[in-house]
Amino acid sequence: MTVEFHCQDVGVACKKVTRADTAEELVEAVAAHARRKHGVELNPTLVDYAITKVRSSGE
Ligand SMILES: [Zn+2]
Repeated sequence: MTVEFHCQDVGVACKKVTRADTAEELVEAVAAHARRKHGVELNPTLVDYAITKVRSSGE
């Protein structure tokens, strides 16, 4: 299964779609992207919020 996260789903003007095989890997990849591209450090609250926006690929 592949999961994906769209920056746009959390209201960020960014077309990035991050994909990974597991939710854990996805959160790490999204955190790295957020830090590099958005200058945002994901705290636990933001991680919980981001997880609610994770989609299964193909939906
Ligand atoms: Zn982004």
